[in-house]
Amino acid sequence: MPELPEVETIGRALHLQLVGARILQVEVRQPRLRRLVDIEALVAGCVDRRIEAVRRRGKYLVVELNRQRCLVLHLGMTGSFRIEPAGAPTLPHDHVVWELDDGRCWIFHDPRRFGCVVPASLSLDDTGRRGPLPELGPEPLSDGFTVEDFHRRLSRRQAPIKNVLLDQRVVAGIGNIYAGEALFMAGINPRRRAARIGRDSCRRLHRALREVLTEAIACGGTTISDYRSVDGLRGRFAVHLQVYGKPGENCPRCGAVAKIRVLPMAGRSTFYCPRCQH
Ligand SMILES: [Zn+2]
Repeated sequence: MPELPEVETIGRALHLQLVGARILQVEVRQPRLRRLVDIEALVAGCVDRRIEAVRRRGKYLVVELNRQRCLVLHLGMTGSFRIEPAGAPTLPHDHVVWELDDGRCWIFHDPRRFGCVVPASLSLDDTGRRGPLPELGPEPLSDGFTVEDFHRRLSRRQAPIKNVLLDQRVVAGIGNIYAGEALFMAGINPRRRAARIGRDSCRRLHRALREVLTEAIACGGTTISDYRSVDGLRGRFAVHLQVYGKPGENCPRCGAVAKIRVLPMAGRSTFYCPRCQH
């Protein structure tokens, strides 16, 4: 499932490719995504509008159109975008096709259909509380994400830290892979209650999150199975993963002393070193 670095990579690629293009028409081939596509609203919101910017908020992309409209996009588990010359053959699971005025098509493809395409007014505020964006916590790479605020947010939560990191209202954009990697880097056991994390550990976790996300963005994200950027390229961060997907391997920090373990938490596999993470 794409997380912040993957969505950021896709958003940057779409921004470069799409800004300045005008949408001539939109074809919805399958409206039954995670949220039913409102075809009439999508056509009214897109057609004859120019694409002005593509930005990311959490795991969402917001495509800004002129005259105060936007599209809110989520990739779900398997969503991807590609850009093709107009008239190129479509594939199974191509659900929405935007025809552009420069002879290209922009296509949303999503085999499992957990993604969404929602037309909206651009007058969303920055916290995303209005419109189709749900409540989202701070962006972990922004100046607004401070150790103090992060510590305050964790101190209110009794759930295991790993699960709390996945809560988009606490901090936006983190998913299973980067939560696990950051906890390993910070030496924190994923089962520890969030409220029991002290100031120093919180500072280490804050730094680890920023480090792992920044590095992963520089690598174009992580491709485990089907994530691809707009140009079809795989993310290159997988080789830098330290614990994710490595059960039974030697811990990269304490070596042969301990092996990476896997633990189901909130329905997802969590990888950690029982010796290095407390
Ligand atoms: Zn270890």
